[in-house]
Amino acid sequence: MSKGILVVVSGFSGSGKGTVMKRLMEKYDNYALSVSVTTRNPRPGEKDGEAYFFRTKEEFEQLIREDGLIEYAQYVENYYGTPRKYVEEQLSAGKDVLLEIEIQGAMKIREKFPDTLLVFVCPPSMEELKNRLVGRGTETLDVINGRLRRAVEESRGMDKYDYLLINDDLEECVDTLHETIRCERMRTSRNHDFVSRIQKEAEAFL
Ligand code: 5GP
Repeated sequence: MSKGILVVVSGFSGSGKGTVMKRLMEKYDNYALSVSVTTRNPRPGEKDGEAYFFRTKEEFEQLIREDGLIEYAQYVENYYGTPRKYVEEQLSAGKDVLLEIEIQGAMKIREKFPDTLLVFVCPPSMEELKNRLVGRGTETLDVINGRLRRAVEESRGMDKYDYLLINDDLEECVDTLHETIRCERMRTSRNHDFVSRIQKEAEAFL
């Protein structure tokens, strides 16, 4: 069986990337969503092992020493990292593995695994992003401003991603992401074995 594709999905806080991933997982079955490890505190309703594996700073540092993470980054005073074992197992089983991570981690993944597909989820305009963040009504103005400042930084790195995914209509966005990954699978560079077999079969006509 051919190996799956590693797909990184990043986007501004408020871009709706979490909802897109959730819907993609419900709608299609060839995906495995990696659960990250973090040192931040769980938000109300977040259970260990679902949104994240919640660990202490010491436990996180131990994971780094053991080479148990394929990447990690610091984001607003906390560590976030991607566990190695799950990603490797799922890729070997032919699943396309989704990493919902921020930009520093995305760049490290691209360095280590150059054939990773990098997708950036973006709202149709920055005005819309602000409206969504304010409209959630769950965060203080300070937190919202922090996220908008972070969005400025992240917007500077957007062009390092392979594809843009404009999140206007959820279903359309999910289907476009699915199609993008499906097309990525058809790259000749990802299908060396098939290409060689067809070439050999063709040569046999001579
Ligand atoms: P939050 O605290 O809002 O759940 O996540 C903060 C940011 O960390 C988000 O941009 C999220 O995508 C990113 N993030 C989550 N898990 C990881 C990870 O394993 N590695 C990296 N580099 N970023 C992550």
